[in-house]
This record gives sequence, structure tokens and C-alpha cells, in this order.
Amino acid sequence: MTTDTNIRQFPGAEIPEQTLSVEKKYPSFCQHEKITLDDHSRTVRCVACAQVMDPFNFLLYEVSRLQDAWERNRQVRKDLSELIDRVETLKKEEARLKARIKTAKAKVEPAFSVRSREL
Ligand SMILES: [Zn+2]
Repeated sequence: MTTDTNIRQFPGAEIPEQTLSVEKKYPSFCQHEKITLDDHSRTVRCVACAQVMDPFNFLLYEVSRLQDAWERNRQVRKDLSELIDRVETLKKEEARLKARIKTAKAKVEPAFSVRSREL
């Protein structure tokens, strides 16, 4: 009768120890909207996914983002100014047309009122 202790694995069949591992994957959907600057380790890190970013790339991205925002702001102010001008022009036109309508009505309407004719 053979016991279990007599059973040996064939040499070389052992699975080698796993020495490689993959770093935790950052969620690809993270927009890294909340950033923290660690002045001790001098790193730039996303609060949500903990990804450490290259400080220069971070600065470069932020600068271009700010430039875009300023450009959009400038464009919106320009559009707003143009719209205000158009509204002013339309208000003047409205006042002019109301005055013309009033003048035209005065010409068409009889000098006496309907009420006074009934009396
Ligand atoms: Zn992130």
C-alpha cells in the first residue's frame, strides 16, 4: 500500500514564483479634476485616482487650459458687447416704429370718438 508521502511531483513541474506584477490600473475615465500638490514629495497627484503626474506636463496643460479659458472669455465679452449694441439698435427701431404707428393711427382715426358720436 502506497501512502501520499511517497508521491512526489515530477522535478521541474513546479510553478515558478511569481515575481512580476502589474501596478494598479488607473481608471481610464478619470479626468483628474481634483489635483493635490505634495510639497514634501514634490509631486502632483490626482486626488481621485492617485495618479502621479509629471509636474511639467501638468503645468503645461494648466497653462494651455487657462489660455483657452481667457480666449473664450474674450470671445464671450466681444459677443456680449455686439449683442448689447444690437439690442440698443432694436430698441431705437422699436421706438421709431411705435411712433410711426401712432402717427398713422392718428391720420386714419376720425377726429371724433365713437363714444361721442353715440351721444
Ligand atoms: Zn485621476
